[in-house]
Amino acid sequence: MTADAEGFFYPVIDQAVCIDCEECRKICPAAHADIFDAEVSYYALRVRDQEVLRQSTSGGAFSVIADVILNEGGLVCGAAYDEEHNVKHVVSGDISAMRKAKYVQSSLGEVFGKIKEALDSGRKVLFTGTPCQCHAAKKVFEGADNLWTASLICRGVQSPLFWKEYCRYLETQHNGNLSFYCSREKVKMDDAHTVVYTVGQDTFQTDYMKDPFSRIYAKELSLRPSCYACPYTTPGKAFDFTIGDYWGVEKDYPDLADGKGTSLVICGSQRARNLLEGCSDKADIRPADPEKSRQPALASSAKQGFLRKFLMKDFACKDSTGVSDIGMILKKYGN
Ligand SMILES: Cc1cc2nc3c(=O)[nH]c(=O)nc-3n(C[C@H](O)[C@H](O)[C@H](O)COP(=O)(O)OP(=O)(O)OC[C@H]3O[C@@H](n4cnc5c(N)ncnc54)[C@H](O)[C@@H]3O)c2cc1C
Repeated sequence: MTADAEGFFYPVIDQAVCIDCEECRKICPAAHADIFDAEVSYYALRVRDQEVLRQSTSGGAFSVIADVILNEGGLVCGAAYDEEHNVKHVVSGDISAMRKAKYVQSSLGEVFGKIKEALDSGRKVLFTGTPCQCHAAKKVFEGADNLWTASLICRGVQSPLFWKEYCRYLETQHNGNLSFYCSREKVKMDDAHTVVYTVGQDTFQTDYMKDPFSRIYAKELSLRPSCYACPYTTPGKAFDFTIGDYWGVEKDYPDLADGKGTSLVICGSQRARNLLEGCSDKADIRPADPEKSRQPALASSAKQGFLRKFLMKDFACKDSTGVSDIGMILKKYGN
């Protein structure tokens, strides 16, 4: 995977070692529309463990599902920050670093090799990620019954390079090392809409919609070009699970509208429905009405406004050290 000028990763074939078998092209998810006709069921879910709920972006659906796979001796693959705050997929039996949404394209790195090893040894693997990543995992391991998929409802991802330059900007602004960043922290009863980060000894908090970096994401100005023509904006996908925030919970289940977060879970397989049925001791799980789904990301792609072009043009202007003027970009586009 190679980054383009905007900092997004794309697959590039190394012609020096390519044997023209065409296998990579044959399994490329972008060339297949084979997951769009699943029969799905909708649920509202909230994990009962209050600490796990606090650490989760919405209702903790990811943790509830992952725990079942781990308790059966399996492994989980999901996105975590590394020590330098790069967002990377990892395969692990410990899911704590995978919790919380990171609104950046995650690098899959070497995880498919690790998943293969686990599947070959008879272990279950839960792959979690964006719908395009889950589709890729399903294509790579087609027919592997031990692979489970939990896709996010996803509005799009931002450039890893833009993110890294933003991290460096925070470090320069506050004169220290960034040691913690969370886009969706639950410090208030606000459905995890507080940005919290620590630089040096100081911790900073901002409402999600007042934080310029988050506003640029929410205004859909910095997404990967493919996110503006996303084919996965439909609920009927054949992933075991599709999980997201339960928008409009106050209308359907007012008793859950306390700002602690509730998950929307869409099951796309019978085995997923069975797994969820077995979780009623760990989570409050209720049926939800598909007709009432208020999720824009299940209806249409993000809209590419004309400002994206200008933002990326500004981002492409680097100083002599190769860094953009992120401060100016945040001020200009994130207000
Ligand atoms: C880029 C992005 C866009 C999203 N857009 C929407 C949306 O439009 N509507 C909506 O309802 N929900 C959206 N979500 C999902 C939502 O914010 C929660 O992440 C989801 O509900 C899971 O919450 P949880 O409480 O079950 O789990 P948590 O414990 O918070 O688990 C987070 C899960 O997300 C995965 N993850 C985190 N960051 C990334 C990443 N960068 N790439 C791939 N996987 C990642 C982890 O592997 C883990 O499985 C988005 C998430 C991301 C990362």
